[in-house]
Amino acid sequence: MSENWRDMDMANPTEEHSMLREMVRNFVRDKVEPQALENDREERFNIELFREMGSMGLLGLTVPTEYGGAGMDATSVAIVNEELSYSDPGLCLAFLAHDQLFVNNLVHSGTDAQKDRILPKVCSGEWVGCLGMSEPDYGTDVLGMQTNAAIRDNGSWLINGRKMWITNGIIDEDGTPADVVWLYARTGTDDRGRAEITTFLVERGMEGFSAGQKITDKLGMRASTTAELVFEDCVVPAENVVGKPGESMIHLMRNLEHERVGLAAMSLGIARRCLHDMNSYATEREAFGKQIRDFGQIQRHIGESWAEYRAMRAYIYDTARQIELSEAGHRLDSDGVKLYATTTAKNIADRAIQVMGGYGYVGEYVVERMWRDAKLLEIGGGTLESHQKNITKDLKRDSEAIDS
Ligand SMILES: Cc1cc2nc3c(=O)[nH]c(=O)nc-3n(C[C@H](O)[C@H](O)[C@H](O)COP(=O)(O)OP(=O)(O)OC[C@H]3O[C@@H](n4cnc5c(N)ncnc54)[C@H](O)[C@@H]3O)c2cc1C
Repeated sequence: MSENWRDMDMANPTEEHSMLREMVRNFVRDKVEPQALENDREERFNIELFREMGSMGLLGLTVPTEYGGAGMDATSVAIVNEELSYSDPGLCLAFLAHDQLFVNNLVHSGTDAQKDRILPKVCSGEWVGCLGMSEPDYGTDVLGMQTNAAIRDNGSWLINGRKMWITNGIIDEDGTPADVVWLYARTGTDDRGRAEITTFLVERGMEGFSAGQKITDKLGMRASTTAELVFEDCVVPAENVVGKPGESMIHLMRNLEHERVGLAAMSLGIARRCLHDMNSYATEREAFGKQIRDFGQIQRHIGESWAEYRAMRAYIYDTARQIELSEAGHRLDSDGVKLYATTTAKNIADRAIQVMGGYGYVGEYVVERMWRDAKLLEIGGGTLESHQKNITKDLKRDSEAIDS
């Protein structure tokens, strides 16, 4: 038996991971926490703070160092998401859309020329990226997408369609579109009638690309912008096609696995914050001459939250450890961990509100925002129902996973 196996901390497996966590935790305390409440109220994306994350090396966390990134792994991404979401899940969602949906996709699927030209800009924060998959009429049913692209005689492509719910789709109050979109479009139909999907890098200023409505009045994640994107005879040059036309399903599925672990890690940050705040409050608050933590019903809220928080932490970091960013093959656990962690975080936030009574119900005490933000994680990046469907499908194919 190897000697040090008991020393392994899955959430901080190496010195580099611990240092990253400490750096982000300090940044969150000093810069993120002071602005979180106001940007939630104002439904405003703090692009200045986002760009500061570029100078800290966080916007290209998984990008090889030769392109200006930090060359780290899925565990590092989970650490950053957890720490940011402890204070501001909305800002973290903007980070996730850029880092995990755009940048990481480009690293693993882009051509050398695309990477040379675009990665330095997105790693520094000069450019903000996003991913356009969902549409007004097609979300879970992704292969039903209607946005389509046709090749022209000169090799460029003409794209038509609309994308909906796009995080970072616009980046400011003037409705300026994202600098660059990782766009999925239908370029053919297979013999089962399903879309053959191709990825395009659509850049701001390209003919026919514009932002539609900013989606306001969201329940949560209000510190990130959500918008519709419009493609009307949008012309995209051949060099902005990613991979072979019609073959994007492979990287689409691979990146969804990474995204789902990232969203689960956001849930962990929410859960930890809510547990922290309800625990402190239960000591500070007295009723009937006692600290409220002496009441059995409060103990149930805290005790159950602790156990569930610890279970999510173990499952998330165990899954992140196994994710090899350049490969697919972890759908069972990336679905499993998101299914468990998102609802658990929402439940823990709910208990925190309950423990904190009327105070828990107002913005200044943070946990109501956490509860609102947690709800999105049950929908975005795959709904709970889609995870249940995928897990059941995968366990039919691979029932040995249960006993392994
Ligand atoms: C704030 C926010 C940010 C987002 N950011 C992005 C982004 O950056 N990029 C992007 O592309 N998308 C983004 N999305 C879209 C998100 O991924 C979709 O909302 C999600 O995939 C669900 O799709 P839908 O809303 O169309 O719901 P639908 O797919 O229409 O689902 C409606 C209901 O039907 C259920 N359902 C559907 N199919 C089945 C089935 N086969 N079995 C059982 N139940 C089923 C669903 O689970 C759900 O309960 C974002 C959404 C929000 C709200």
